[in-house]
Amino acid sequence: MTKSSEVAVVGGGIIGSAIAYYLAKAGHQVELLEAGKVGSGSTQAAAGMLGAHSEFKEFGASLYSFARTSQAMYEEAETDIRSLTGIDIERRTGGLMQLVFNEEEKEMLLSQFSSLKGVTWLDCPTVTKKMPGLSKSVLGAFHMAEDVHVTPEIACRGFHTAASMLGARINAYTSVDEIVKESDHYRLRTSKGEWQAERVVIASGVWSNALLQRSGLGTPIFPVKGECIAVTNTQTPLTCSLFHDQHYIVPRNNNELIIGATKIKNDWSTEPTLGGLQTIVEKARKMLPEVDKMPFRRSWAGLRPQTSDGKPLIGEHPEMKGLFIAAGHQRNGILLAPATGKMICDLIGSNVVPEEWKEAFRVDRLNTGEEVLM
Ligand SMILES: Cc1cc2nc3c(=O)[nH]c(=O)nc-3n(C[C@H](O)[C@H](O)[C@H](O)COP(=O)(O)OP(=O)(O)OC[C@H]3O[C@@H](n4cnc5c(N)ncnc54)[C@H](O)[C@@H]3O)c2cc1C
Repeated sequence: MTKSSEVAVVGGGIIGSAIAYYLAKAGHQVELLEAGKVGSGSTQAAAGMLGAHSEFKEFGASLYSFARTSQAMYEEAETDIRSLTGIDIERRTGGLMQLVFNEEEKEMLLSQFSSLKGVTWLDCPTVTKKMPGLSKSVLGAFHMAEDVHVTPEIACRGFHTAASMLGARINAYTSVDEIVKESDHYRLRTSKGEWQAERVVIASGVWSNALLQRSGLGTPIFPVKGECIAVTNTQTPLTCSLFHDQHYIVPRNNNELIIGATKIKNDWSTEPTLGGLQTIVEKARKMLPEVDKMPFRRSWAGLRPQTSDGKPLIGEHPEMKGLFIAAGHQRNGILLAPATGKMICDLIGSNVVPEEWKEAFRVDRLNTGEEVLM
């Protein structure tokens, strides 16, 4: 028997889960279809930093305003999720310290951050007093108080559990193999039979190409592998994340430190390599020499869904009305999840969405012109 719903969301990572949550909250009838376990894709590999400032260099103006909006939305999401589900998404305050080791680095970052509110320069005595375990060779640090972090797999669980409390149905181990446009709805062929939906949202992360290509949008997403390590912090209290040269150390509530991450383009493997782990250990040691003494817990690798211009695809298909895409959030999907969920919800509900965002994240802007319709 064909099952039917108003909106089918394909993919149960943090993006699909946040979309399901905002849609269900606005009163839409939602089915989330996830090929594996919910949250088991890139989301479970992430460190969880909400780094709107620390990632500023990579963002244009539109992505920065979207990132800041999303970062702020976490506060309300945290409260709502807790009251609906009892889940604590572990949003840890304290922010992020971008460490600086020489004058050249300081000048470069000063020019980047001078226009931003919420970024403060701390000199070496101040920063090492705050965090005694830091490397003695730091010149200082830029403190970004609002670049807090969450625990990604718990935040993802929070979003889809809250969605389900609000009436969404979450279908794990249900892979969508084909999406076919019929006269006034979409038919989805899945590993668990056929589904019918008035609207479909493709939120399948790095695996979205298979479905995008068939809709004529080409293959705009490629993987960027990232490797991480978790250690037990037996040495020094760390009140905020440390960041330097695209690498980081993030403290979790369970006393783990997450050390990451490599960036390897077009590598689909999900096993960490010794070389990759060695690189991140060296970068971590430069920031916090005491990591050497900390017991190793585990290592892993995940695939960031990257696009060639570094921005996600968020919006409606230009020709296939009712087909929406929310994918390609690269290294910032945890940060961008609430704003993405809300934007898709507003597009579906025909509510106002800033033109700047619609244009920046247009889903056909990277169209490689391959294949036609589903
Ligand atoms: C090492 C590392 C560190 C990171 N650190 C951060 C960070 O600190 N902050 C931050 O903001 N971001 C970070 N990221 C990026 C972040 O993890 C991703 O941007 C985000 O998880 C993408 O979410 P998603 O829901 O789009 O993808 P995913 O989490 O991969 O979810 C997609 C889901 O779709 C499912 N799926 C695929 N195809 C189908 C199909 N045909 N049918 C049904 N389901 C399907 C998959 O099983 C998967 O569960 C990091 C990533 C990595 C790898």
